[in-house]
This record gives sequence, structure tokens and C-alpha cells, in this order.
Amino acid sequence: MYDENNIFAKIIRGEIPCDKVYEDGDVSFFKDINPIAKVHVLGIPKSQCVDFSDFISKNTPTTISEFFRKTNLVIKKLGITKDGYKVISNSGTNGGQEVPHFHIHILGGEKVNLSI
Ligand code: 5GP
Repeated sequence: MYDENNIFAKIIRGEIPCDKVYEDGDVSFFKDINPIAKVHVLGIPKSQCVDFSDFISKNTPTTISEFFRKTNLVIKKLGITKDGYKVISNSGTNGGQEVPHFHIHILGGEKVNLSI
């Protein structure tokens, strides 16, 4: 069940400010409020989806690929392509997800000390 009062839903509705990197009618990319790397940007679709699996199952292949195509545009805009980066999505309790709206973390700008 999607919680319409989660933080990212409030950001989408403009109820909470954020430092935007890219936005259009379908997606928003903005800086994480508590960055763990020099570059730490979050990317979200504006449609209601709780996590990665929910996003994939509720959307068309075009919508899904557009989200990741735009993610790549943002990565280029951030200037982190050459030195590298991480793209991470946490899902559910075991994944350590805090905000129940599907999002990706883009991390870079320095060596990112997160290993899997
Ligand atoms: P998760 O643990 O759910 O994958 O990541 C949620 C992320 O959202 C965290 O990195 C956290 O710092 C970030 N975050 C939480 N609240 C806000 C907020 O109000 N604004 C922004 N820009 N980021 C937030």
C-alpha cells in the first residue's frame, strides 16, 4: 500500500523543498539531504510506486526505460561518468529502505565506500 504522505510524495507535490538537478512531468532528480558522498543525488518517478518491484510491475517498458535513460542523462550532467559512480536502490526492510517511494541513489564525485 502506497503512503501518500511519505517525504518524496510531499516533494513531488511541492510541499517540501529540494535542491533539484533535473525534473520533468514524469521524474525528479534532486540532491540527498544527508549526502554520503560528494555527489549524492536521488532519482524518483512521479507515479506512485513503493519500491523497485512495484515500479517495474506497474509501468510499461517505455516508462521504465525512460526513467533509466534520464538517470543516465543526469549522471552525465553531474560530470561523474569518467571517474565512475554507483547507482543503488534499496527495497524493503532487508534492503534498508527508509522512504517508501521507489528511488535510486546516484553516488560519486569521490571513491564511494559502500561495498556489496
Ligand atoms: P533509502 O534509505 O530509503 O534508500 O534512502 C532515503 C534517502 O532519502 C536517504 O538517503 C535520506 O538522506 C534521503 N532523504 C530523507 N528525507 C529527505 C528530504 O526531505 N529531502 C531530501 N532531499 N532527501 C531526503
